[in-house]
Amino acid sequence: MKPVTVPFFISHQGCPHTCVFCDQRTISGAVGALPTSEQIRDRIDLWKSTAGGRPLEVAFFGGTFTALHEQIQSELLAPLQPLLNNGTLASIRISTRPDYIDDDRVAWLFEKGVRTIELGVQSMDDTVLKASGRGHSAADSLSAIRCIKSGGLAVGAQLMPGLPGDTPTTSLASLEQVIAAGVDFFRMYPTVVLRGTELARRYLAGEFIPLSLDRGIAVCTILLQRAMQAGIPVIRIGLQAETGLDAESVLAGCWHPALGQLVRSKLYADLISRFVSPGERVTVFCHPSRLSDVVGVKQGNLLSQAARGVQMQVVRDISLMKDELKVKAEDTYDIYSIIKDSNYSIYEV
Ligand code: SF4
Repeated sequence: MKPVTVPFFISHQGCPHTCVFCDQRTISGAVGALPTSEQIRDRIDLWKSTAGGRPLEVAFFGGTFTALHEQIQSELLAPLQPLLNNGTLASIRISTRPDYIDDDRVAWLFEKGVRTIELGVQSMDDTVLKASGRGHSAADSLSAIRCIKSGGLAVGAQLMPGLPGDTPTTSLASLEQVIAAGVDFFRMYPTVVLRGTELARRYLAGEFIPLSLDRGIAVCTILLQRAMQAGIPVIRIGLQAETGLDAESVLAGCWHPALGQLVRSKLYADLISRFVSPGERVTVFCHPSRLSDVVGVKQGNLLSQAARGVQMQVVRDISLMKDELKVKAEDTYDIYSIIKDSNYSIYEV
């Protein structure tokens, strides 16, 4: 059974860096103190009461967990130990930077019940990392991934298409390198220009051109399809609206509260456009869990097909795989896959 994640945002705590895009106070929606043991236990109790019997996983998101003072790391993990022992908690996940992980730290985290580490890889291009003020290299990311995997933990990579110096081609190359390194899952956060950051200063000075929403969607669509081909889940696309982002805090860049759905919808829209000719009348069958993606945000896919002269209705079909569409036109049926049958070129983005 998939665990319910109990999130704790630890804000800018523990991080001595100032990446050009980062305003952790905005992204985490919380400033200041770390949660106390009591607050941690209270929140877990609250989430347990609504979890419907599903296992719980505590996640420390936000800052750089392993850059916190060791005593603070211990204090955050201490109240979780009895809950791991009595089965209330299934596991713990943390997020951190690639240059704050080594074999000893991974072994210690494993002993404390941490089973997943998310790394802020962002890019595997050293020029991009430098221009973004990250303070670590692509080699650090590869080394961190190796340490985590050899310690027996799952490792996720966060990637940020659209950083200074990045191109769609380097974004795809970053993804390919991290796939080859053996990550277990991805998060994709196309670059957003937040007010008050160094990136905002550069943007306002005309020194940085962010990804537009449309271009960011196009890049993420290709990255998502490639990750799907490699069999690696992408568990999140785009920063969450509920973490304090809105029209006030976002100055520019690729942000939309439903970015993930826009990207998944585009995969289906592109497949339909590839195989259904203008003027056709078709019924498109899809796995029930993909209905809203196939229809599109605010019925966007139906409307865009109508603009091509395609009359399309969408119907659930439990016999199909999630990546498949069955297209019925007159008396013929064809099954297509967004993994196998779409054909993208990163050079066209
Ligand atoms: S490492 Fe993370 S928390 Fe620290 S400045 Fe960069 S993005 Fe922000």
